[in-house]
Amino acid sequence: MDHIVIRREEYVSGTRDRPEIGIFTQAHQTRHPVPWGQIVIGDTVWMKWSSGPIVAAATVQGFRQIETCSAVQLREMTVGSKLFDLSDYWASLPPNFSAVVIWLEEERWLDSPIFPSARSRGESWVPLKAPELREAWLTSQAVDQPKGDTRRGARTRTIGYALRFQVLRRDGFTCGYCGRKPPEVKLHIDHLQPWSCGGLNVLENLRTSCEACNLGKGATRL
Ligand SMILES: [Zn+2]
Repeated sequence: MDHIVIRREEYVSGTRDRPEIGIFTQAHQTRHPVPWGQIVIGDTVWMKWSSGPIVAAATVQGFRQIETCSAVQLREMTVGSKLFDLSDYWASLPPNFSAVVIWLEEERWLDSPIFPSARSRGESWVPLKAPELREAWLTSQAVDQPKGDTRRGARTRTIGYALRFQVLRRDGFTCGYCGRKPPEVKLHIDHLQPWSCGGLNVLENLRTSCEACNLGKGATRL
């Protein structure tokens, strides 16, 4: 079965040890975050940003669903502190909740994000049980494309969510100039060749930078 998961960008977290494996957790106090018995190893999971498009797909490699889970248990299941910078998330969890942890593999980022025509009605996990449901979620609506560029979005001012996360993950969520990480600093995405000088929004031209390093550098070429 296919599923849509709706994730906040800051909760997307691979592990530092095994970057090819993604880990996904959800916690809910009053119901199971994913209905019991509806997830199977080998299922496809489509990842949607909470306020944006579907940007990636992955395969379920394993999962655990636990009732009356605690933050400590959840951390242990997710290789704990080796996850990227989730302290705010751990701190936000209530004492007990229903939890699901899903280990993902074969994560692939879409060249073209999908803007679904369906809505989640407050769920953060949507099993695509019927073909109509699948179609509503996995059919892209028309999106304005920049003209004259070979790569989608290469000359639009904003950096898309998927690309932004690819840069952050490639750089280990660390400022490429001073080596600091959140929560000490807030991370930005910096253009090596400035956008104002024709620099493209492509992986090779982007680097993770903290706010101070990014502002200090401005439109100066290194
Ligand atoms: Zn820095």
